[in-house]
Amino acid sequence: MDTPDIKKCHKCGATWIEGQLYWATGAPGSNADLAGLVCDQPPITQAHLCSNDLRGTQHGGDTWEKRSAKLDQLDLEMRMETLRLKKELEGDL
Ligand SMILES: [Zn+2]
Repeated sequence: MDTPDIKKCHKCGATWIEGQLYWATGAPGSNADLAGLVCDQPPITQAHLCSNDLRGTQHGGDTWEKRSAKLDQLDLEMRMETLRLKKELEGDL
């Protein structure tokens, strides 16, 4: 039996088994998202410990900036909806 090809990132604890990335939690993930969310993050002094090939590249993965932008958008939509409902209710009085 062949030994499976296992690679581990010493910075974020992510593991690649036969080229498929698994988060430290055990969930499968993508190299780009890992790079954007974990490997590109400081401390940059530990960057050499990272095994993600996409770290520091234009990988197009998820980043915290993208995630918080998405949350801001949701937040705004919720406020608008609340305001709309409130106006609707007030109109009924
Ligand atoms: Zn890493």
